[in-house]
Amino acid sequence: ETAATRIDGKVIGGEIRERIAREVAALQADHGVTPGLAVVLVGGDEASQVYVSHKRKASLAAGMESFEHYLDEDTSADELLALIDKLNRDPAVNGILVQLPLPAQISEDAVLAAIDPDKDVDGFHEVNTGRLWNGGSPPVPCTALGCVLLLQHTLGNDLAGRHAVIVGRSNIVGKPLANLLLRENCTVTVAHSKTRDLPGLCRQADILVAAVGRPKFVQGDWIKPGATVIDVGINRLEANADGKRRLVGDVDFTAAAEVAGAITPVPGGVGPMTIACLLHNTVRATCQQKGLPLPA
Ligand code: NDP
Repeated sequence: ETAATRIDGKVIGGEIRERIAREVAALQADHGVTPGLAVVLVGGDEASQVYVSHKRKASLAAGMESFEHYLDEDTSADELLALIDKLNRDPAVNGILVQLPLPAQISEDAVLAAIDPDKDVDGFHEVNTGRLWNGGSPPVPCTALGCVLLLQHTLGNDLAGRHAVIVGRSNIVGKPLANLLLRENCTVTVAHSKTRDLPGLCRQADILVAAVGRPKFVQGDWIKPGATVIDVGINRLEANADGKRRLVGDVDFTAAAEVAGAITPVPGGVGPMTIACLLHNTVRATCQQKGLPLPA
């Protein structure tokens, strides 16, 4: 038996999705507006296909329109940019998401920069990054937002003054999360592959977030007793004898759960929150584009 509370992203994300479905229904009833999310997938990456199909199902279940664009692996940058230009100008499309990673011939930076910042529901456009760091409220990268919502759900309004250690400094997770937790008045430390004495640093964390991409990297004895642990990692292990491929996080869950106060499982922790936040960003983008008040 584990001592830690299990932070259930499926349940928490499900509540958010229900709230969003109500907001979408109200937009339709009151304003005749249906939020539309366009998802672009280039090539046949297996994990990306799974993510795109989850995003499609979730947006349809929330009552939104889903526009999917599947492009060949050898699509040129110009072809993709032409599609983005079309989506930028399409009034039925309120959110645009280009699934990463892209094939090597296409520059991710150029593609992300081409998306209309107002339709950038992933929050990766540099204009939105800048707005975030300047204290504005642009669309925020979904996984980082999902982590904050899980922490608020677990710790209530009690984030202020806590020491948050984030292991990982990607543009997708670590950096935006550092910003969001600063706003919550946490004391934030961002660790990475050059950090010295990472275990010792992690032991100082009231909130420990692992976004590393290495299976079971964070050990049980790196965790301060009672800490809240958010495991962002999604690592696919080789198939077992039963042929099923297992997903594990960046934290050794079994060992960590004996020490932590609360911890997210993988799967079923941060993953479902990411999709819920994508829908949240799409509703907000729709309201802004249509000049409607944001849902409370
Ligand atoms: P990146 O590969 O972009 O970044 C990994 C970060 O971990 C880097 O900052 C890197 O440091 C750091 N790192 C790598 N090795 C070490 C080490 N030995 N010690 C300390 N730090 C280290 O990954 P992402 O941020 O994109 O993703 C991280 C994980 O989260 C992955 O497992 C990914 O699958 C998962 N993920 C899950 C999502 C979800 O919805 N749940 C969404 C997005 C990602 P440095 O910068 O020095 O190289």
